[in-house]
Amino acid sequence: MNLITNHMPTAELQRLDAAHHLHPFSHGHALNAKGARVITRAKGVTLTDSDGNEYLDGMAGLWCVNIGYGREELAEAAARQMKELPYYNTFFQTTHAPVIALAERIANLTPYDLNHIFFASSGSEANDTNIRLVRTYWEAKGKPSKRAIISRKNAYHGSSMGSASLGGMAAMHAQGGMPIPDIHHIDQPYWYGEGGDTDPEEFGKVRARQLEQKILELGADNVAAFIGEPIQGAGGVIIPPASYWPEIQRICDEHDILLIADEVICGFGRTGQWFGSQTLDIRPQIMTVAKGLSSGYQPIGGSIVNDEVADVLNSVEFSHGYTYSGHPVACAVALENLRILDEEGIVTRAGAETAPYLAEKWATLADHPLVGEAVTCGMLASLALTPHKASRAKFAAEKGTAGLICRDRCFANNLVMRHVGDRMVVSPPLIITKAEIDTLVERAWTAFDETQARLEHEGLMKAAG
Ligand SMILES: *Cc1c(COP(=O)(O)O)cnc(C)c1O
Repeated sequence: MNLITNHMPTAELQRLDAAHHLHPFSHGHALNAKGARVITRAKGVTLTDSDGNEYLDGMAGLWCVNIGYGREELAEAAARQMKELPYYNTFFQTTHAPVIALAERIANLTPYDLNHIFFASSGSEANDTNIRLVRTYWEAKGKPSKRAIISRKNAYHGSSMGSASLGGMAAMHAQGGMPIPDIHHIDQPYWYGEGGDTDPEEFGKVRARQLEQKILELGADNVAAFIGEPIQGAGGVIIPPASYWPEIQRICDEHDILLIADEVICGFGRTGQWFGSQTLDIRPQIMTVAKGLSSGYQPIGGSIVNDEVADVLNSVEFSHGYTYSGHPVACAVALENLRILDEEGIVTRAGAETAPYLAEKWATLADHPLVGEAVTCGMLASLALTPHKASRAKFAAEKGTAGLICRDRCFANNLVMRHVGDRMVVSPPLIITKAEIDTLVERAWTAFDETQARLEHEGLMKAAG
């Protein structure tokens, strides 16, 4: 057997990766020709690759390493749990201490009466649970016709058949026969990109009222739920106008539609409070969580429901569950993660000190000639690249061309920033310091200079007609 270790030459690791590993969301041949970047270790907000280069991880992995890398307490919690009880299921009338403790901890952290959690191993699984859960809820209430779920274009809710159907990513729907039936999509509250000359607050209401139109079109008796991310993450960190969520809330309440807040990114401190629903003043009956719940140290997610939903669901046998629902090691690690986020004041400090600092520094990037808007909410930030600031113009080149060049220039400047089309986004570990934010913004500015030079050189600074 071959031992594959970090000490192997980069080229050899890349060759083996290309030979046997299929990457998510990648064009395999193009990636394999180039060779994947090999990450070997990480500490705090810093990643190290197999050639010894260090990067400031502006993305906290995939929006998940809220606590930062290298917390030994989490490794120890995992080791302890593995020695005591590495696995047992929660089917067949059994339970165990880590799952009980975590469920109670989450119930204490969540707002309102969101006191009950159904565990999964990812956000995708949790949203698949939600599809079955809301339909089972309405059946148990004697309203089996309430089956449709309304979501939004450019939403991201996961990559399984159910969750990707809830999502509104056109490229995903184009492969594999999605969306599944009875899922409907309305337009997103993206004022910068789609608002034209409308006042942003007016635009927020207009987009929210599409939900009401869709409910009336389908008949409220046929609609089970609306799902939305408080702030769209993978769609480009799109912060809705303040008018949007109150209007969505009113419509859900008036038409007796369950409101699901997908908190997979927004949860566990990302928006400066424990949950995005608190920051955006949303009162959901159901929340989806994953990512920051364990800071990515273990795969775990879940559907959190309020007292009434739990009570109705508990009146029937819900024929649903995963082998790893409430996995003891994942629960033990998540519990330790939440303890540290809370006791070290990481969420509180991110909200009170770091997020305002990020907002101030991020805003300076709007002065760059290539940047059309620069916005933040808590520890989420995004900006739009544009060939023409004043008109908020899009590039004439294929969407994502400028974004991809910019992403690569960020890497070349030792910064991990993600591009979503021609928006650049960051979601750093919550423990990032002010000095590290300065570094992030300095490197971003340099990367934007280099991107602009490249775009000009290639004649790509042209606005779409
Ligand atoms: C990442 C994400 C998911 C999917 O989570 P996985 O753990 O990748 O399955 C769902 N919803 C939102 C909002 C996400 O950002």
